[in-house]
Amino acid sequence: MTKTALVTGGTRGIGRAISLALKEAGYTVAANYAGNDEAARAFTDETGIATFKWSVADADACADGIRQVESEVGPVDFLINNAGITRDGFMHKMSVDHWQAVIETNLSSLFYMTKPVLDGMRERGFGRVVNISSINGQAGQLGQTNYSAAKAGVHGFTKALAQEVARKGITVNTIAPGYINTDMVAAVPEKVLESIIAKIPVGRLGEAEEIAQAVLFLCGPNSGFITGSCLSLNGGQHMF
Ligand code: NDP
Repeated sequence: MTKTALVTGGTRGIGRAISLALKEAGYTVAANYAGNDEAARAFTDETGIATFKWSVADADACADGIRQVESEVGPVDFLINNAGITRDGFMHKMSVDHWQAVIETNLSSLFYMTKPVLDGMRERGFGRVVNISSINGQAGQLGQTNYSAAKAGVHGFTKALAQEVARKGITVNTIAPGYINTDMVAAVPEKVLESIIAKIPVGRLGEAEEIAQAVLFLCGPNSGFITGSCLSLNGGQHMF
């Protein structure tokens, strides 16, 4: 096991916190991002973590990017599928472009990113895949048919793949965050955000570092019996 971890969308928000937590725990981290070079440069300057730019919504770019990471950093034994976007709007007004962008980035990306690392994990007899879903993929959210559908798909993907690779020492799990204090949530109008926080039993947004600690746990040496599971980190907003 190399302890090389690849975090998609690993330069900002939740992904950034995951990259940092893994690095602090002794992993060698590669952080992928889509297009914000300025944030990526500042991230590398601050953390020393190498960044790699490609879109997880592009299958060929994922295959090429992973080849580059594996030759420059090491074989990927820990894959954190974190990158995600929203393109909100009520269904009757939603464009096909917004539907497809969200499905490709949040769901198809899991196939594009995980397939290229699976053979290596199978050969080495070890792997950890953690997929970041959302409370809105569990409960549904108006204005987010695209996002809710994509994130719900993450759970199905996780449970199916977990069964396929369990005997090879590979675990596949989902983390479903509630509302977390990142740029994605900063884009939510203030009044809407107030009404969301009012529905969170712990009375606050979550912090990216809290999600990162759960990723660390699922990647850790004592989590080999956990697979096909979902950890819901949502301040009690959705219990089932
Ligand atoms: P941010 O918008 O803060 O950061 C998104 C990160 O993903 C950036 O690094 C961005 O790169 C990258 N990214 C976006 N699109 C792509 C792409 N096509 N290819 C590669 N990288 C991409 O998001 P959050 O940290 O808030 O969210 C992270 C994950 O957590 C997402 O999957 C999101 O759906 C999920 N989530 C978030 C919640 C929240 O409340 N924030 C709640 C529940 C789930 P760049 O900097 O180049 O744009």
